Amino acid sequence: MKYKVPFVNYPLQYRNLKSGIDAAITRVLENGDLILRSDLEEFERDIASFIGVRYAVGVSSGTDALIFSLQAAGIRRGDEVITVSHTFVASIASIVHVQAAPVLIDVKEDFTMDTDKIESAITPKTKAIIPVHLNGRMCDMNAVMALAERYHIKVIEDSAQALGAQFRGMKAGSFGMAGSFSFYPAKILGGYGDGGLVATNDKDLYEKILLLRSHGQKTKTEILQFGFTGRLDNIQAAILRVKLKHLPKWLERRRQIAKAYHEGLKGISNIILPPAPGAEKNRFDVYQNYVIKAGKRDDLAKHLMDCGVEILIKDPFVLHHQKNLKLSSFALPVTERLSNEVISLPIYPELADEQIVYVVNSVKDFYGA
Ligand SMILES: *Cc1c(COP(=O)(O)O)cnc(C)c1O
Repeated sequence: MKYKVPFVNYPLQYRNLKSGIDAAITRVLENGDLILRSDLEEFERDIASFIGVRYAVGVSSGTDALIFSLQAAGIRRGDEVITVSHTFVASIASIVHVQAAPVLIDVKEDFTMDTDKIESAITPKTKAIIPVHLNGRMCDMNAVMALAERYHIKVIEDSAQALGAQFRGMKAGSFGMAGSFSFYPAKILGGYGDGGLVATNDKDLYEKILLLRSHGQKTKTEILQFGFTGRLDNIQAAILRVKLKHLPKWLERRRQIAKAYHEGLKGISNIILPPAPGAEKNRFDVYQNYVIKAGKRDDLAKHLMDCGVEILIKDPFVLHHQKNLKLSSFALPVTERLSNEVISLPIYPELADEQIVYVVNSVKDFYGA
């Protein structure tokens, strides 16, 4: 089916950037600059400065960014790590992959970690917290950092959905010991394949991540530890360098679309919208996703698809109820309720104004508003 408003539009973004992207790819191929070359170094330098950290390391995915961060922070078997269930599965998988135990807590109505639930989840085994900045909105990092300091717990920010988002003037990924990012194509800054990044101000952690991503090789002749094939490809870094220049403008466009959705939908009593951009003084949300809570959600989803609006219901089943993951001991009432209410409307910089109006009208039409 051809949608009037597709949920993502990769070809359109490519057409808009074609000359720059094609030139970057051709240059990389003609020079044979494939692994750990200058595009990667330059991209790392530029994005570190954008995020506001000293160091950035390009890795093979957002998931590896989390795993390497936890491992470099010394998290291991016997440790507990606090995170949420209302997230992409990778946040939890990374904890399991370093053989620590995930401790899942509930979220607030804005889909971010309920920081009032952190303290009672802390035990003598708690070594790290992974706050997840979901949908382009940051967790309350004041609360997270205060508790982390009081209990000597490390903070690894899952910033995969929040590149450029801010809390009290600081960007996602710059609060904790490390911040992890993803360049999966649908993310705010997406490559043409998988990729990720660790951001940090900690020199020791930075050096450990460099080793982990490339088989522990300090130099061509010196191996310091066992590591992984976990690098960001130079060709992806070259592409991401082209796209990074557009990022500030893209973030503004996402906020503009969020504002248009807010203005168009705010009168409808059956739905609850995310906070409008600019509504909260200390926040700069970047709307990786525009997720609304909707009455008769499944019927609305069907109506929108019938209208040619491609929507996404992410995780209609909560992660801690996926029985093979063995997380069912957690009872998380808000997370469980949200799974029946959430629906994501299309949001990306290339969305045309007429398409936004069409989405708004299609939602209004469903509720007779
Ligand atoms: C996308 C995402 C990841 C993982 O990123 P990959 O690059 O796909 O491995 C982790 N956490 C969250 C919240 C994400 O959205």
